[in-house]
Amino acid sequence: MVLPLSLARRLRSARTWIALGVLAPIGMLAVSGTMLLDMRQDAYAKAEQTSQNLLQVLERDIDRNIELFDLSLRAVAKNLRAPGVAEVPASLRQLILFDRAATAQDMGVMFVLDERGDIAVDEGAVPPRQGNYADREYFRIHKTRTDIGLYIGQPIVSRLTGERMLPFSRRIDRPDGSFGGVAFGSLKLSYFSHLFEPVGLGRDGAINLDLRNGTRIMRHPYVEADIGMNVAGRSTFQRFVSARSGTMVGTSPRDGIERHYAFTQIGAWPLVLNVALSTREIEAEWRTKAFGIGGIVLVLCGLTMFLSLLYGRDLRRREAMQAELARLSSTDALTGLPNRRRFEQEFERAWEGARLAGKPLSLLIVDVDHFKRVNDRYGHPVGDAVLRELARCLSASVSRPRDLVCRIGGEEFVVLLPDTDQPGAVRVAGEIHDGVRTLGIAAAGIRPGAVTVSIGLAAGPLTAGTKPDDLYRNADAALYEAKTGGRNQTQCAAEGATRDRVLRLVGV
Ligand code: GH3
Ligand code: MG
Ligand code: MG
Repeated sequence: MVLPLSLARRLRSARTWIALGVLAPIGMLAVSGTMLLDMRQDAYAKAEQTSQNLLQVLERDIDRNIELFDLSLRAVAKNLRAPGVAEVPASLRQLILFDRAATAQDMGVMFVLDERGDIAVDEGAVPPRQGNYADREYFRIHKTRTDIGLYIGQPIVSRLTGERMLPFSRRIDRPDGSFGGVAFGSLKLSYFSHLFEPVGLGRDGAINLDLRNGTRIMRHPYVEADIGMNVAGRSTFQRFVSARSGTMVGTSPRDGIERHYAFTQIGAWPLVLNVALSTREIEAEWRTKAFGIGGIVLVLCGLTMFLSLLYGRDLRRREAMQAELARLSSTDALTGLPNRRRFEQEFERAWEGARLAGKPLSLLIVDVDHFKRVNDRYGHPVGDAVLRELARCLSASVSRPRDLVCRIGGEEFVVLLPDTDQPGAVRVAGEIHDGVRTLGIAAAGIRPGAVTVSIGLAAGPLTAGTKPDDLYRNADAALYEAKTGGRNQTQCAAEGATRDRVLRLVGV
């Protein structure tokens, strides 16, 4: 495949490679960063799905059991008022009242308290077990309030069995609406531990069941001290209460562990359930992958950058070398002036420029007079020194940035003067003669004035159809005239001359 020229040039440029070497890794990092963030989000989405499913199953089970409890207590309260129930024998009354009693293995006790708080009918014994519960919180509440419905109290220790229970109670109204006692039932807290225990939530996961007032009913994994504690002040709990259900991330003040919480209120009951998974564990698998992928990407990026910079540096060196070679190939080693090659390129360009712009262009060919004698008399090294001095002299004689002084042969120089007509070029030639007159090599005994030059001058504009060669030939012919005319002088090719030159002497 052939690449377009400009693209091929760009690909060879050190700057392009350095830019690519930096941009490509940045792109790679951005893409892998986005990918890793996506993977992290996926991990959280999966965790959320799991805890929501779990939450739903647990909520349904608890809700259903409380509803059954409530139905039983409603039935007790209702049946008590049924005609004749008060008169039947105690054992029969027990059967009538508790026929719908919850029979779950974790059900605690169930009884009816009279208005004084004594056990009137006991689901577990005939005659009823002895006990007065007038001091219990639920009894006092039902006694004073009629609007409570099912009351779920703080976890208590049963006076009958010594086990931890969650108390449920309903007020019993007399036909006239006055307080007639309390229908009471309790659910062993072991019900919740049996429900939660099979659930695996990792090392730092937890399930919490609280009353809306912040009292902790159960925690899984079970810690005795947690039961009955108040968590109402925790910011996580306040969120659970205000938003009914949802998810959030928060740090537990209990152990300082950050967790992802999925929470919900249970049915219409004042109970809040949450499933908490440690964010560290949610991210664990992702983190291992992220470290692996991130590490590999970083190494690759580093390597790409390093190799690109290395290659860029190599290219830069090569570019500098090429520039130096190009400079050397167009520079004269002895004088440091541009050489013939460079002159030819610049002459073509200046010629084209002058032709297009309709501006004049002048050319001076400068040749040292009897230079062979200098060499013969003072030696080649001194001759070289003279040439270097002359180069300095010529450079000092021109002032415009586009003026060009070149050494085109042994002791032959040219001065190219764009945008300069013949009078201007003659002035420059005059300055060259003035400069050369001051040239001397004291160490070799060459005094100022000993070295002279002859100059052939040709100036444009030339007539249409002429070529740069014509201007050069005219200047060369003028130089020949200067030589034959006695040297140390400038001869001009006539303005506008082509091959049929008219030469004119310019005195120096
Ligand atoms: P004319 O006035 O007719 O120009 O006489 P000339 O002696 O200057 O001309 P000619 O062409 O006969 O001799 C040029 C001499 O320049 C011959 C050569 O030895 C000398 N020359 C050429 N290149 C160099 C150089 O690089 N260093 C030195 N020292 N001499 C050089
Ligand atoms: Mg000469
Ligand atoms: Mg010569």
